[in-house]
Amino acid sequence: MTASGRLGPGKEFDAVRELLEGWGDRAAHAGDDAAVVDFPANQRMVVSTDVSNENVHFRREWLSPEEIGWRATVAALSDLAAMAAKPIGLVSAMTVPASWRDVLGGIGEGIGKASSAFECPILGGDLSSGTELSIAVTVIGSTSNAIMRKGARAGDVLWVTGMLGAPGEAVRAWNGGKPPLPRARARFAHPMARIREARWLADNGCTAAIDISDGLVADARHIAAASAMTLTVVLDAIPCFDDVTPRDAAASGEEYELLVAGPINLNVEDFAREFGITLTRVGEVSTGPPHVTVIHGGKRVEFGGGYDHFSR
Ligand SMILES: [Mg+2]
Repeated sequence: MTASGRLGPGKEFDAVRELLEGWGDRAAHAGDDAAVVDFPANQRMVVSTDVSNENVHFRREWLSPEEIGWRATVAALSDLAAMAAKPIGLVSAMTVPASWRDVLGGIGEGIGKASSAFECPILGGDLSSGTELSIAVTVIGSTSNAIMRKGARAGDVLWVTGMLGAPGEAVRAWNGGKPPLPRARARFAHPMARIREARWLADNGCTAAIDISDGLVADARHIAAASAMTLTVVLDAIPCFDDVTPRDAAASGEEYELLVAGPINLNVEDFAREFGITLTRVGEVSTGPPHVTVIHGGKRVEFGGGYDHFSR
């Protein structure tokens, strides 16, 4: 019996049924009070949750329903990537106002596409009414060698995956009343979780990692604090899109690229060949107070804070 066939009558369950039918095999374990899943032997469980709220993380006019579902799911999966974990499954809890109900199928489609792209089955979820759209996605993963924020060692160098700056550029354009350039919009609307890349980095001796959600420098501060090390970030080395300054790229949030500490001799050509994105050295780790030193044009510069939900 399919997951959708296991539900009783009612409008809420009609909506759940529609989501489950859209997801098909990807939600084969859903539809009971809770999902029962197999877990790989000798692995540790990695769990994370992430919430995306209308008017906080995105505005309705910026994104299609499908993009909203994709983004919310990838944001959660990106935290599994940051630990070098492999996805086991996800559950999503959504608050859906009446004004969003007719596009719930589109949001579900985005969640389903991310589920397929990152091989993460949908295990279940919950629907509620409310005043603003909110999507909470909880992800479960497994690993035998997690990379934590606390593992950076003196002598490691800092690496970043991909190119930075486009999501920040898109938000600046929207906030200025202009449509963003297509490339910037695409990076905001359709981020990728670096799951496979993270496994490669773990297998190649990386010691600490974080996904860039608040900006490279702001997230580097978390590694510095957790590892009790001084990190130096060279702004001029940051791989950024053409019309983005290194400073803006280093402050751009919701990138979902990985900042990692690791050995100096990683094979960046192999990495680029395997994943089709760059791996770039952007700084180093040294003994010293837990702090991030930012270098620009050969000089030490001041750098402000990242995005802080509770600071405003
Ligand atoms: Mg994170």
